[in-house]
Amino acid sequence: MERVKGIEPSHEAWKASVLPLNYTRNRAQPTNPACVVNPPSLACAAVSSLLLKGGRVIDPANSRDETADVLLVDGRVAAIGADALGQAPEGGAVEDVSGKVVCPGLIDIHVHFREPGQTAKENIETGAAAAARGGFTTVVCMPNTSPAIDNPGTVALIQDSAERSAKVNVLTTGAITKGIAGEELAPIGSLKSAGVVAITDDGHCVQDNDLMRRALEYTAMFNLPVMDHCQDYSLVGSGVMHEGYWNSTLGLPGWPSAGEEMIVARNILLAEKTGAHIHCQHMSAAGSIRLLREAKSRGVPISGEACPHHFTLTDATIAGSEKFWAEDGKGVNYPGDGERPAWPEFDTNFKMNPPLRSAADREAVIEGIVDGTLEIISSDHAPHCDYEKEVEFANAPFGITGLENQLAVALMQFYHSGRMPLADVIDRLTVAPARLIRSDRGTLSVGAPADVTVFDPDAEWVFRREDTASKATNNPFYDWTLKGRPVMTIVGGEIVWQ
Ligand SMILES: [Zn+2]
Repeated sequence: MERVKGIEPSHEAWKASVLPLNYTRNRAQPTNPACVVNPPSLACAAVSSLLLKGGRVIDPANSRDETADVLLVDGRVAAIGADALGQAPEGGAVEDVSGKVVCPGLIDIHVHFREPGQTAKENIETGAAAAARGGFTTVVCMPNTSPAIDNPGTVALIQDSAERSAKVNVLTTGAITKGIAGEELAPIGSLKSAGVVAITDDGHCVQDNDLMRRALEYTAMFNLPVMDHCQDYSLVGSGVMHEGYWNSTLGLPGWPSAGEEMIVARNILLAEKTGAHIHCQHMSAAGSIRLLREAKSRGVPISGEACPHHFTLTDATIAGSEKFWAEDGKGVNYPGDGERPAWPEFDTNFKMNPPLRSAADREAVIEGIVDGTLEIISSDHAPHCDYEKEVEFANAPFGITGLENQLAVALMQFYHSGRMPLADVIDRLTVAPARLIRSDRGTLSVGAPADVTVFDPDAEWVFRREDTASKATNNPFYDWTLKGRPVMTIVGGEIVWQ
């Protein structure tokens, strides 16, 4: 198959840091060769089709929850329900998914695939493979790569790599500031033209309030969301874990909740002032959620997300598994009565930014997801090499992987715990993230892209280190019994993982 034309390395675009606003990539449209003369239709001989039979179809975007067949034809949702079987082309593929949930392909708007520059940790191919394994059909990469994704050339590099090697849709954000250094705005218009779905300095936080204001005013012209990693550097300093009982007990520098809440408050004020939307990433502190809830009740254009580790684990995990399970672990909806997984104290797979916080904070994050203050669940999938994590806690890099355990942990904490209906959990993983990035995915509407996730909500399985598709193994949930498991991931009508 001929490679689609992208920007080749010799092209000037690789050297240019700023491209004209009308710049677009030279992208070949995928065309079914049999359909070149006549427009694609069901009558077309080489049409590709897949009929998913007998599953429980949950599509929050259309308030659908019923047992039905789903027909995918030529990369689009073609029919659902009674029409599906009759419209299925003869000889098309059929999968029996009875007893399983069929939902729009899951979307994770917060992943770090480390390409370019840090591909010993992960690359787009392996990150996308982990996404497919976790039931995710679309992911959004963060720009804190090396170099940072702050110009159209780097965006094109990622798009080309994704086209070549990724099993799922890999989208990218661009940086707010050049080199994510927080000093000078990146060429945001050119980034938008090159195809970024949002801008963020994730991994860093713009400290200069005026610069953040200008970024918001500028992006409002492009209808581009701004995502923010909320961290006030003057308050957080060299903190490596939540500032509270456990950091003083363990003797580690604290990362206070106020370090996050301060920037959430700043973002609310700036969103209100500029009218531009800000999305607060990986919320961890009770005060942040309180601030967001109040601001949203007044109609401020602001939103938030939470990650599985923040609504499941607490800072007690860093004192070791015994300490955790004795107290805070009771807040985990752990399946079965089996033995709980064990880990030592100072395990660096419990170190991430923002840090795991108290049980009260975890409860507030859960309440935020349940009442919709936090609209989106994301993984903050952040791979690192073993040798980087196998050091003293204070010296280890922040971050853990999460794409493969995210769906199960979300189902355990929200659905199996009885706190949310299944459709609402799926909403936080599909249509809500799609809405933020202005995507037509995240729904099973007829005509929508044929991205579908099939999962068994009740399957119990043990998450094993050796089974991961990621390059990295920095994950705190290994050896956990999880409840809820993807069984099939479909992207553009093709099964990419089963
Ligand atoms: Zn972050």
